[in-house]
Amino acid sequence: MLTDPTDRDRTVLEIEDGSVAISGRPILRHIDVRIERGEFVALMGANGSGKSTLVRAMTGLLRIGGGSVTLFGAQLSDFHDWHRIGFVPQRATAASGIPVSVWEVVASGRLTRRRLLRPLLRKDRQAIKDALDVVGLRDRSHDGINTLSGGQQQRVLIARALAGEPELFFLDEPTAGVDLPNQQALALALETLKSRGATVVLVAHELGPMTPLVDRAIVMRDGRIAYDGPPLADHEVHGPLFGAGHSHHHVVPVVDDHTPQLGLNRHREHH
Ligand code: ADP
Ligand code: MG
Repeated sequence: MLTDPTDRDRTVLEIEDGSVAISGRPILRHIDVRIERGEFVALMGANGSGKSTLVRAMTGLLRIGGGSVTLFGAQLSDFHDWHRIGFVPQRATAASGIPVSVWEVVASGRLTRRRLLRPLLRKDRQAIKDALDVVGLRDRSHDGINTLSGGQQQRVLIARALAGEPELFFLDEPTAGVDLPNQQALALALETLKSRGATVVLVAHELGPMTPLVDRAIVMRDGRIAYDGPPLADHEVHGPLFGAGHSHHHVVPVVDDHTPQLGLNRHREHH
């Protein structure tokens, strides 16, 4: 299947003419996007442009009002393989008054794969250890989550999602407010994930250390996709083309070529 995938096998996510309204107010309009297996997509755009709403629509957290969402070839309403999807929401916080350990938080990421209250099997333990290795926090397993820094807690949440061994992984601004060493640790974790063939949709304001991982950029502006194509430098995303939403500049036409560019690094020389 990997050597000769059909189009259907390659497409992990597709939205056709998707729209979302919240309390009657249109938030997303005319969203057309197709994501192929193994792609690393940076979802970018100004605050309020609709990135988180799009991710919520893609993961079924938010019902789209019009159009269709397809995950792994199944309509969203018929999709049940949620263990194939990992999601680290924006501003997620693992801090609480409960002294839960790093290990426990990551173990909770196996819940979609195991029945509730069933004891952890060896393969569950292995997946948890592996996820902690990937984010570089194995040695903190038994520490309380509240003893970790904000950036480390973010890595624990990523390990939690990794422990479910997802094929399609969404991260909503995992680097916001995270210091550079933790951003670098995140980039390493995502590189590992990518090398294992996972598909990644990363919402980020600035790509920083993630830059070399990105195959494709999608830029949102005012609830629409303003750009879909080869990776852009951070300053291009924040420039007048995709900025605050009141500019009268032309919006770059959406590139219609969704041919996967895996293995081709021809865009990296920009960075
Ligand atoms: P981004 O993630 O790009 O910053 P969002 O998807 O969070 O943007 O928000 C897009 C728009 O939708 C914003 O104008 C925001 O105020 C609005 N919005 C998002 N979620 C809600 C909600 N639950 N209720 C009302 N408005 C919302
Ligand atoms: Mg957001």
